[in-house]
Amino acid sequence: MADTWEHLKQDCMQCRGCALADTRTHVVFGDGATDAEILLVGEGPGQREDEQGIPFVGKAGLFLDDMLEMIGLDRSKVYIANIVKCRPPQNRDPLNVEQDACIGWLRRQTALLRPKIIICLGRIAAKVIIKEDFKITAEHGRWFERGGVQMTAIYHPSALLRDVSKRPETFEDLKSIQTKIREICPVHS
Ligand code: SF4
Repeated sequence: MADTWEHLKQDCMQCRGCALADTRTHVVFGDGATDAEILLVGEGPGQREDEQGIPFVGKAGLFLDDMLEMIGLDRSKVYIANIVKCRPPQNRDPLNVEQDACIGWLRRQTALLRPKIIICLGRIAAKVIIKEDFKITAEHGRWFERGGVQMTAIYHPSALLRDVSKRPETFEDLKSIQTKIREICPVHS
């Protein structure tokens, strides 16, 4: 039977595929438009996200909303998900075993969405989605093509909150993303 967003979410909300199930408050499935042409992928939920069950709602999330607004986007025009759907304790990086256990959910989300553009938010998402040896400091803002999908990575909003010196480079990356959207997603032009 064909996958649907409803079935996928129902299944995912009950997942106990890795040890993060024991410490989560909520599974953070995803947020945004399920017919969006642009998919944003972070690494995993933080405390606020775990409390509310919605990705990117803490300080980093507000900053992400500001970045989206700068290029004419908002959550009604994109879909946002994470590599792992449950919060790693103390906001540590998700372990490889957790990423491997969880990535199937993101794959199914991506298959349903069929995005034209994927924007990785930070190093971990870029390593999983673009290439294993992705170097965020050297390769942020570059474009890659995988199976007809255009992909890029920018610094994670949390990194931009911690280190303002990264913001000018990210501003350039956002402009590049805006240009790419105008090229291949005419609905947003
Ligand atoms: S992180 Fe992913 S694999 Fe692990 S329990 Fe949560 S939904 Fe399942």
